[in-house]
Parts: sequence; C-alpha cells; structure tokens
Amino acid sequence: MARIVRASLLLTTLGAVALALPLNTAVAANSGGAAPTSVSPAGSGSTGGAAPGEVPPRAPAPKATSARTGGAVPGSKPPVKARPKAAKPVAAAPTTPAPLTSAGVFPVSGPYSFGGRDARFGAARAGHIHQGQDVIAASGTPIVAPLSGTILWKADQPAGAGIYLIEHASDGRDYAFMHIKRGTTRVTVGDAVRAGEQLAQVGETGDATGPHLHFEMWVGGWGTTTGRPIDPLPQLKRWAGL
Ligand SMILES: [Zn+2]
Repeated sequence: MARIVRASLLLTTLGAVALALPLNTAVAANSGGAAPTSVSPAGSGSTGGAAPGEVPPRAPAPKATSARTGGAVPGSKPPVKARPKAAKPVAAAPTTPAPLTSAGVFPVSGPYSFGGRDARFGAARAGHIHQGQDVIAASGTPIVAPLSGTILWKADQPAGAGIYLIEHASDGRDYAFMHIKRGTTRVTVGDAVRAGEQLAQVGETGDATGPHLHFEMWVGGWGTTTGRPIDPLPQLKRWAGL
C-alpha cells in the first residue's frame, strides 16, 4: 500500500497526473466498487423486486445512499418497472366482466326505476365515486335478498349509508343494501336468509335525497383490502328479466 502511494505520489510529482488518478480510482473502484456491486444487485434485486408493494416507503432511503455510489441507475429502474406491475392488476380488474348469476330475485319488491346518470355505478359524488346502483322506489317497498346467504353486517352510518345491511350470498359475492327505512330491518348479523326473503324496507336514512335502495355488489369480500365493488346494473337487469 505504502509503495503504491509513494509510486503514485512520484508519478504526480513527475507531472503524470493523468496516470496517477486512474491508479487511485482503480484501487478505489476495486475495493469500494466490489462491495456496492455485490450488495446492491443482491439487495435491490431481491428486496426491491420481491416486495415492490411494500418497498416504496422504504426504498428511497437506502437507495438514495447506495444510489450515489453507483447503484443509481440500476437501483432506481427496477422499482419503476415493479410499480406498474403492481398497479396493473388493480387498474385492469374493474374492466374484467364478472359472470352474471342467472338465478336470483330482484332486490326491490315493487315498482322501481334505475334513475338517471347520477344513480349509476361510478357516478361522481362529493369526495368519492358512487359504488353502487340506486334503485328508486317508494318508502316502505320491501327489500328482499336476491340470493340465499348470510347477513354479514348491519350498521347505521348517519352521514352516509344510513341504516344498511351486507349479505354474503351463495354466489360468493357480498351485497349491500343501504338507506334502509328506520325500524324495518328484519334480520341481524349471522342470520341465514333465503332468496326472496324480506330483509327490510326502502327508506332514505343517511345521506339520501329521497327514498331509494343503494345497492352494491362486491367481489373478493366486502370491506376487505382485496375486495371491490363492481357495477351491479347488469346483474340487476338479469334478475329483473330485462
Ligand atoms: Zn347510491
């Protein structure tokens, strides 16, 4: 080491600066470069690529430091590729058509309408997107279970859904019935229900401008991180015989 330093010093004093720098950087690159290259590919390759979903919050810190040593380009690229991969299924999922159920009963037992654009799934709402289809009907019209199943949840959300029920149905989907008329709920959590069985009555509890059933259809589990609501109108039309 001492000899090499002396040699490079001699070279620099001789005016061979261009030769001395390559020597020093070559030594530094071998000792310092070997560690980063063996660590960063293994580190950014396995941790950065294996868990892209949970990495983003952690990634910036280690990569900012190791990135400057030489992993900047290769280290920053994988996460960029990984993110679209993670985002794609979420974006593509809503467009995948869900098979309709041929059996079942229309959930409102009485005169109804599907309303206008504002009643549709995906319509804009203040601060969110409409996650269901509104079925406009007179207050007191029976709400019935479209399929057999189990009552999964019952609650009152005064600022939103009002009084609502969630049914886990025999088709594996979860169905939400919202804005239920106060005092009309006939079932509670854990109850088994038959297709066509009355659950409650149409009302306007919660954030509603008039009596209607806000109806949601969920795949993957209502209220879970993997579950999501899908447009229930095609299924509603099927049950209605339209
Ligand atoms: Zn609604």
